[in-house]
Amino acid sequence: MKGTEQADGGRPEVVERFLRYVRIDTQSDPDSAIVPSTGKQKDLARLLVSEFADIGVPATMDQYGYVWATLQATATAPGGGPLPVVALLAHMDTAPDAPGAGVRPIVHPPYEGGVITLPGDPSVTLDPTRQPALLRHLGEHLITSDGTTLLGSDDKAGVAILVQLVADLVTDAGPRPEVRICFTIDEEIGHGVDHLDLERLGAHVAYTIDGSDVDTISYETFNAAEATVTVGGTGVHPGYARGVMVNAIRIAARLVAELPEAESPEHADGMDGFLHPHTTTAGDVSSASVKLILRDFTSDGLERRKDLVTRIVESLRIRYPGASIELSIRDQYRNMRSYIEEKDPRAVLFALEAAEGIGITLRPEPVRGGTDGSRLSEAGIPTPNLFTGGMDYHSCFEWNTVQSLERSLRFVKALVRFWGEHGHEARKGSLD
Ligand SMILES: [Zn+2]
Repeated sequence: MKGTEQADGGRPEVVERFLRYVRIDTQSDPDSAIVPSTGKQKDLARLLVSEFADIGVPATMDQYGYVWATLQATATAPGGGPLPVVALLAHMDTAPDAPGAGVRPIVHPPYEGGVITLPGDPSVTLDPTRQPALLRHLGEHLITSDGTTLLGSDDKAGVAILVQLVADLVTDAGPRPEVRICFTIDEEIGHGVDHLDLERLGAHVAYTIDGSDVDTISYETFNAAEATVTVGGTGVHPGYARGVMVNAIRIAARLVAELPEAESPEHADGMDGFLHPHTTTAGDVSSASVKLILRDFTSDGLERRKDLVTRIVESLRIRYPGASIELSIRDQYRNMRSYIEEKDPRAVLFALEAAEGIGITLRPEPVRGGTDGSRLSEAGIPTPNLFTGGMDYHSCFEWNTVQSLERSLRFVKALVRFWGEHGHEARKGSLD
């Protein structure tokens, strides 16, 4: 049996929504100066507003293109007061890294293992030797593009899951707090929350529904700092340079050579941090500078890396007394976990418990970068990221499955109910 684009009548509604949304081009543009970076993101925003209207839940698109909707609470705290408002977010834009226009989604027959060649470009295959996660989805209906574009599961899976959640819960009397839904713009170019109205969000906790794989939760990001080392040298005629010339390029290069190679991004993954020289500027004999980023999941680890850079610079000052070597280090962002622990660890603990309640054990998946959730967490709204089933983001190999979409929806539903039943309860406990 060949893959088919036609509805077979038996598909879950969340999947039908997903297939509708991915067909709409919403690629964001890092070089654009307007907001949203591409007007076409509003095409999807308008469709979502009209689908919410069909569901019977009023929604609006604001001037920037964010879509807002609210699911009213059905439960209160025991004293009658309101439960904490929970916000659920997904981003509408797709990544600029792969073509995003003309997506033609394909729902494949149950996966039996082996290589799948996508019909739009025979060189694009789904291959378990390269993508071993495929083998965890045997028997499921894979969803891919035709191979000429990305799929856009990142993050239209999150969008479809949340619209379906509202559709399913609007007539459901099961306990829930007030739930704010917000679809964001320009996440892929790092501006997802720049214009997000936090007062309007009015949430105690939030979740981004934007994580890859199934059964994952992310609440750890790097602690981040940037160091700039500026070397001033002395330029003279190289024929008469002995004892006079101080070559800033040579000293900057020495600095880079002193950075431990074993702590480079090229050798790091999982919970490893790194030191990464990423830009050299103004490189000539009299002046050169190097910018490095420092990353670590623990604050102690980040301090150790700052220390190391400081000591290297001090040793260069001793070795090259004729040079001026300036070092400045500035903090960029903190591991979102520290904000979540300070503000309300229930954001994570309730997610873990709600998942257990439906037989899912969540796996914490550290994010090796910053996220919109880390910026929201820093702003006082603890915001872990939850799985959508999407895999191999930002590429023509991107895929999800019918079953993973349903699983993610089931989990988010359980989470909303959990906040409805337990939102008034305290929880002690660390995130270890
Ligand atoms: Zn995403």
